[in-house]
Amino acid sequence: MGLLASFDALIREHGSASILKDHLALLREQIAALENKSSVLSNENAILKRDKLELQSQLENANMTIRDLKQHVNDLGEFTESHGAYFKKDGNGGYHNAVYCGACKSQTATMTGRNPRDVFRCKCGWQTSFTKGMETQIRQSLP
Ligand SMILES: [Zn+2]
Repeated sequence: MGLLASFDALIREHGSASILKDHLALLREQIAALENKSSVLSNENAILKRDKLELQSQLENANMTIRDLKQHVNDLGEFTESHGAYFKKDGNGGYHNAVYCGACKSQTATMTGRNPRDVFRCKCGWQTSFTKGMETQIRQSLP
């Protein structure tokens, strides 16, 4: 038998104005305690909802970072970096006959395609630190 049921039984059996007044005072205390508890729980719920939104945002950012890193790992498997530029594997143990941008991995070109003193330039503005004339030697050093 719970506390309230016990009081109810007591009041029914020995009902008096004094007991009823004590009973009402006890109920008021319990109601006030429950209201306080409800307020605390509402505040905690608001904090938890805010924290949940923040964590969801952090999770989305972490997932985007993971996607970027997976793409980077894939790119690293496809490209080999040397002298700041990238060389793309051809899948047959060699490399495509092109030099790729060290910044955006787009294919680069020299001004004339023949002048050994030309550097390779990308449309993004990046350029190689080596010249067309050094390309063959660099290719021979690729793994
Ligand atoms: Zn570029």
